[in-house]
Amino acid sequence: MRTPFIGGNWKMNLSLTEAAQFIDEIQTQLPPSDEVETVLAASPLFLHTMQEHNNSPLLVAAENCFYEDEGAYTGEVSPKALSQMGIKYVIVGHSERRKYFHETDEIVNKKVHAVFRNHMLPIICCDETMGRYETGDHISWMVNQVTAAIRGLDADDVKKAVVAYEPSWAIGTGHTAPADAAEEGCYLIRQTIADIYSDQIANQVRILYGGSVTHENIRELMKQPDIDGVLAGKASLTTQEFVELANFYQ
Ligand code: 13P
Repeated sequence: MRTPFIGGNWKMNLSLTEAAQFIDEIQTQLPPSDEVETVLAASPLFLHTMQEHNNSPLLVAAENCFYEDEGAYTGEVSPKALSQMGIKYVIVGHSERRKYFHETDEIVNKKVHAVFRNHMLPIICCDETMGRYETGDHISWMVNQVTAAIRGLDADDVKKAVVAYEPSWAIGTGHTAPADAAEEGCYLIRQTIADIYSDQIANQVRILYGGSVTHENIRELMKQPDIDGVLAGKASLTTQEFVELANFYQ
């Protein structure tokens, strides 16, 4: 019912030439979009070139945008401009944005609204720290973060959103969350959406796991009932690994 979503987040890596070569290399090896939706998020500097090289089901996505459409915001990425480029997905609220750029829940919520206002879809990232995980406070922390991120959205919009459970202790560490812990985080996100909207809405939302995903652990993760896909960082930087993730079901 929910199409699997295999996403990559390049973060601030690769060069423009490497980005173009990457697209050239993978595009004949991706599954059709009705079987798996494949998405690669990259720097806004690369998006146009990636789109020009892309002749495949891959969707090129943005890693971030601002919450105003235009104006005197030096250096920011306009969601309106991304939309005009034909971008469909924008990552919002990644833990690195929250940590290094001080993005609050309120800013994340404004960005989520900006993405929908511009006819795109957000990939909303929710974090939790190891400390909170160990003390059990991660549950209320996660519920609050999801609730704040989707505040004020219409049910019709929220069901099209993608939400990623990305515990920061698993990001870039090589320590993937065990499949049952990843499932618990994703289940919690779905339950939070169900409590605010309904089971029917929550069951349409695609929920991803992110944090040290590789071709070795993706199958176990994808077997979990509430995990509809992954958002990979490091593993999305090599063509072979990304293609293996995209074809996880084979
Ligand atoms: P890694 O896969 O490198 O741990 O990064 C995950 C991530 O941050 C995806 O958004």
